[in-house]
Amino acid sequence: MHKTISNLENIKKKLVNCPNAKIIAVSKTFGEENIKPLLDYGHKDFGENKVQEALQKWPNLKKKYMNINLHMIGKLQTNKVKFLFPHFNYIHSLDNLKLAEKISKEESRNKKKFKIFIQVNLGSESQKNGISIKELPDLYKQAVERYDLNIIGLMCLPPQNEATSDYFKALKNLNIKFNLKELSMGMSQDYLQAANNGATYLRIGSSIFGNRF
Ligand SMILES: *Cc1c(COP(=O)(O)O)cnc(C)c1O
Repeated sequence: MHKTISNLENIKKKLVNCPNAKIIAVSKTFGEENIKPLLDYGHKDFGENKVQEALQKWPNLKKKYMNINLHMIGKLQTNKVKFLFPHFNYIHSLDNLKLAEKISKEESRNKKKFKIFIQVNLGSESQKNGISIKELPDLYKQAVERYDLNIIGLMCLPPQNEATSDYFKALKNLNIKFNLKELSMGMSQDYLQAANNGATYLRIGSSIFGNRF
């Protein structure tokens, strides 16, 4: 059995009590030889954080492996949005109005809609991406009403410290407030805490693929 498959299975075992938590295998920095075993195994959700890098591997892989869900989880520049078609299905990092407007325009042009998470900055110092909680209501309202985006949930990338669970709880409460169904939170170090706090998409890289160099 390929290492990535046993790693994935170990993670799934730990998540038996969290049936709503889906695993996004974050394949950034890893090449086809590492991704293919998981594809052959039937895993469907993969995440990338750089558009350029994703375009070097996924168009080719998707020829053979159809029905894959590709998730853009990293910082997204407006000039890169057009390259997400037709390969990506999800965007996890909407955090400003300009980007919402650009995604909306490109969706009309390409006649395809993404499933989108708004990335929230829960107030930590080191983490600059994400909309502040204060500005979230306006971004949400405009994304939905003005730009007709399909916002399915909120995403966060909190610091990994003793307060991580509190951040996850805070994001879950915000999700409830906005009546959203999906929650993108939890990485290799904290996916169990995230899943126990209602995460529906866990973004897991190194615990599946190994360390990135
Ligand atoms: C890289 C990355 C992950 C996965 O990180 P690991 O610690 O390797 O699991 C999750 N989310 C985002 C936004 C990332 O960039």
